[in-house]
Amino acid sequence: MILAIIHKVRSNGLPLLVAVALLFQVDANAQTRKRTETRPANELSRLREDFIKATKDYKTSLAKLLAIYERNVSSSEEKLVQAQKLFAEGLISRNQLVEAETAVAAAKGKINEAQSQMANADTQIADTMLEAQAEAQMSRTPLRKGSLVRTTSYIRFSGAGTWALSDAWRVQRFFQDSFKRQLPVGVFGQGAIHDRWRLDHRNAMDVSLHPDAPEGQLLMNYLRANGIPFLAFRTAIPGTATGPHIHVGRPSHRF
Ligand SMILES: [Zn+2]
Repeated sequence: MILAIIHKVRSNGLPLLVAVALLFQVDANAQTRKRTETRPANELSRLREDFIKATKDYKTSLAKLLAIYERNVSSSEEKLVQAQKLFAEGLISRNQLVEAETAVAAAKGKINEAQSQMANADTQIADTMLEAQAEAQMSRTPLRKGSLVRTTSYIRFSGAGTWALSDAWRVQRFFQDSFKRQLPVGVFGQGAIHDRWRLDHRNAMDVSLHPDAPEGQLLMNYLRANGIPFLAFRTAIPGTATGPHIHVGRPSHRF
């Protein structure tokens, strides 16, 4: 569906991501907006429509997944009842019983995962849309290690150290110690949405903090001091509060 939207916009001669970039500039400058009123207004509403549609599509696909996961839970629970019976009769080993128990727990875990994805679907879509836009811009401007770049829409630090998502706990602990609350992680690693948009987000997490707010500033200072690469987004999807976030890790790229 997203690809269809992008294709549709491309066939009008204006790549979606370029259109998004233009919009943010226009939004930041009321005078420019007045001069070029007709088209940006259309583009603005189109971006908003794309966002709403993408979120709806995503929620629909998650609901389908959820239904499958619920069926898996039922069938694994039936198997467990069977296994308990057989174990009581001495017909299967304890290991086989434990296997059946583990299968139920795993199936329930999938449901929790899909439910939390459903709960912050808007954030995931907005974060991913902005990252897809930045990816198109950044692929043309490689950065030296350890350097920092600021534009109107993002701040990018290339980070000279090594970073893996398995180090995320360090960042989480730093934040917890500093602010006595959990790091607000909106997206952790690769989600269904990244697969659909062909973005590699396996080694990154998105933190729902505005880079200009004190908490965001302190987090970025910590990341810089530790050589951890990040990309901080200031912009929001027009008409919503979602979008600003700090992507910890190297920028997503297309696969
Ligand atoms: Zn991200």
